[in-house]
Amino acid sequence: MDTRTNISNVLVIGSGAAGLRAAIAAHEAGRQVTVLGKRLRKDAHTVLAAGGINAALGTVDPEDSWQQHFADTLREAYLLSDPRTVEIMAREAPDAVLELAEWGCDFARRPDGSLDQRYFGAHTYRRTCYAGDYTGRAMLHTLADHAAALGMTVLENVYVSRLLVRDGTCFGAYAFDIGSGERTVFLADAVVLAAGGHTRLWRRSSSRRDENTGDGMALALQAGCRLADMELVQFHPTGMVAPEEMAGTLVTEAVRGEGGHLRNADGERFMQRYDPQRMELSTRDRVALANYTEIAEGRGTSNGGVWLDISHRSKDEIVEKLPRMYRQFLESQMLDISAHPMEVAPTAHYSMGGVVVEPQDHSTDVEGLFAAGEVAAGLHGANRLGGNSLVETLIFGRRAGAAAAERSANLEVSLRARSVIADAQADLDGLIREGEEFARPLQRALRDALWEHCGVVRDEEGLNEGLARVADLREAAGSVDVRPTSEGFGDLAHALDLRAALLTAEATILGAIERRETRGAHIRSDHPDLDERLRVNLVVRCGREGRLETSRVPVPEVPEHLRGWLAPADELDVEGRLLE
Ligand SMILES: Cc1cc2nc3c(=O)[nH]c(=O)nc-3n(C[C@H](O)[C@H](O)[C@H](O)COP(=O)(O)OP(=O)(O)OC[C@H]3O[C@@H](n4cnc5c(N)ncnc54)[C@H](O)[C@@H]3O)c2cc1C
Repeated sequence: MDTRTNISNVLVIGSGAAGLRAAIAAHEAGRQVTVLGKRLRKDAHTVLAAGGINAALGTVDPEDSWQQHFADTLREAYLLSDPRTVEIMAREAPDAVLELAEWGCDFARRPDGSLDQRYFGAHTYRRTCYAGDYTGRAMLHTLADHAAALGMTVLENVYVSRLLVRDGTCFGAYAFDIGSGERTVFLADAVVLAAGGHTRLWRRSSSRRDENTGDGMALALQAGCRLADMELVQFHPTGMVAPEEMAGTLVTEAVRGEGGHLRNADGERFMQRYDPQRMELSTRDRVALANYTEIAEGRGTSNGGVWLDISHRSKDEIVEKLPRMYRQFLESQMLDISAHPMEVAPTAHYSMGGVVVEPQDHSTDVEGLFAAGEVAAGLHGANRLGGNSLVETLIFGRRAGAAAAERSANLEVSLRARSVIADAQADLDGLIREGEEFARPLQRALRDALWEHCGVVRDEEGLNEGLARVADLREAAGSVDVRPTSEGFGDLAHALDLRAALLTAEATILGAIERRETRGAHIRSDHPDLDERLRVNLVVRCGREGRLETSRVPVPEVPEHLRGWLAPADELDVEGRLLE
């Protein structure tokens, strides 16, 4: 089969919010940009995001400030985030959101025309802007339309199987078209990796099939990057329980933000026992553990869930503020949520770890390679606040795109290696063959293994079993049957998804074993307490013979000018400064 060549200044892998924002920034800096994704242009995973995006605009609660947003984020991350990244996010969020509104994003507004803001869990003030519960879709469409208006095209159904790296410098990517199988060598001065997370690796997941399979993390790891904190996976407290094919599908936090109550099968509002102050608006890790515990201790529903009830709000309000949820339950269960409670249970939702990046420009360990969005580590620590990841995609997508453009503009010579391209080609050729195994059942087995051995609550014995299971599945994956069909090269994409998933699963379990403590979303039944000595980022890299090696990296200090904001509220004055 012929191989085409595509040459640009900046290649962006991923057409979700982070990829599109990066591409727009690189284009605006005058560079020629190629953007691609493995799904359709307006169907990247970002489209699923529901409840909202954070910015301390203070339109509803004028007392809010970027410093308070910084403090809420870092405190609830159990101090594992990089404070420099958090500071950039909190400072730049208002401009990022207002810019998107200016580009036509249909955020909900107040009667005076300012953006409305709702509560999300563990935020001190209302700072989450929203477009009903279709915020991700509104954002993605705005970004895609803006990119199109600038004359940019997004390549669809293109699967990147390898980053091209020579002497520690990335010079492009190798890819194929999922429909036709046509191969393309994408050559570029700089590459932005914005390929999303890895939460489709768990049996119950809020992602759809064939996305969030850890591709970006696996590509980066193989290219020579480090991954950090892969074990820190956010389990959202409220995923659907039934019907089986919808199990794990998200029930947005906006339901609780709009006043939803959680009850067990005895009718008890059980958050009273777990976080009496914040109740349902506690942090995700606490609410997820509360739901998990109620179910595990026999106070759940017969289907293994708890009840989430918003029926005390009027139908009009529900339809206006939670249109997707209203429709989701009506269509899948014939359930009117304005009259009846929803049955929910925890679901794997967000990768807080990922590729190690520099806070300012999101450059990685590999020269010429940048990473932004859910694929990157650094912002969320051990517990992501709802609404922070959408704003992360805009801010760090823009920064990564601008930095990639700058590198391209300043590059004297770009060196490429034929042998590296030939290796990538041989790798794909080697995968297309007859075999006794199929990718789909192995993917399912992996999802079961992670749910069982590396789920909401973990212990050393189970994690080691999980690791052994991953090794068995890797062996089986070595003889997966991959052949083109009348529909194209979907089998090849599934085999690569599986390969990426196995690698990121191993990195995740290794981190989970190493983190012998309970911190945020990482709950170890055999180490139930937080261990101050483990206030470190756990880093994984590909060592000799491709073996994964872990190490510990200290978390950077909180800058002096922001320390006061992290103290308990009763030690602060009204402006958040430490009381003398
Ligand atoms: C149901 C749900 C609701 C959410 N709600 C919110 C919310 O209300 N607020 C909030 O802040 N966050 C929310 N999140 C999280 C947020 O949506 C994501 O973190 C964010 O959208 C990630 O954007 P991204 O651009 O980094 O990646 P994605 O949107 O995941 O895009 C990844 C891109 O990479 C491409 N790609 C992946 N692998 C390859 C490959 N091998 N080759 C080529 N292309 C590839 C994909 O096709 C896609 O284009 C939610 C998440 C879910 C699942």
